[in-house]
Amino acid sequence: MLDIQGLSKKYGDYLAVDHVSFTVPTGKIGILLGPNGAGKSTIIKSIAGLLRYEGGIGIQKMEAHSMEAKKIFAYVPELPAMFDALTVREHIEYVRKAYDSNITDQEVEAILTRFELEDKQDKLGNELSKGMMQKVSICCALCIKPQVILLDEPMVGLDPKAIKELKEVILELKENGVTILISTHMLEMVENIWDVMFVMEKGHIIGSYSKEEVGDKELDALFFELTGGEK
Ligand code: ATP
Repeated sequence: MLDIQGLSKKYGDYLAVDHVSFTVPTGKIGILLGPNGAGKSTIIKSIAGLLRYEGGIGIQKMEAHSMEAKKIFAYVPELPAMFDALTVREHIEYVRKAYDSNITDQEVEAILTRFELEDKQDKLGNELSKGMMQKVSICCALCIKPQVILLDEPMVGLDPKAIKELKEVILELKENGVTILISTHMLEMVENIWDVMFVMEKGHIIGSYSKEEVGDKELDALFFELTGGEK
């Protein structure tokens, strides 16, 4: 479970996120939507521990700052950050060691193969294309075998095969009880996979729905209804 309670964040005097609360239940896929400047990245970075904030963030009922919570939590940032002098394989091994992950070599090979990185393992961080960096970032997150995973615009820069794989991986994670939060503008990419949605505007959640509540209603119709834009 990912539980956000009364989260507020100020940049100087500017209140970017105002007392926001929402929960993604265990084993569900949550999507965080909103127009530019709504406050999504601020929330994502707060959950990832990259910003100071007021309020509470719980990961599987543990305080997000705690070491126990960090060990079961993975984050795929919008812009992948690579070590220039480490190879793809070394990034993976670094994460395995840092998280003391019990992932097997075979599972690592399978993940790298899914994202077509098996023959790129010796490439250095600064020799990768943007899409390849994004794939490495996703593979590193998967190697943690997280119980909660946060993905910020994960499909941007990926080729169609990788997008398809990523969607399948997300559904497999859900099957295995992993809690997932995806922040995205690409509504069509998450249309068929979400369970709960949260729409933000001007630092507030202006609507939250579960898939059961909305039935067959299309995501973009809901989004534009809430944000007042045109379809
Ligand atoms: P986008 O969809 O464009 O990425 P977002 O929903 O992720 O937008 P945020 O990046 O969280 O929005 O920004 C929320 C508000 O906070 C915006 O008004 C933005 O200008 C402001 N903001 C974000 N980062 C900072 C910062 N470092 N300093 C000052 N203001 C900031």
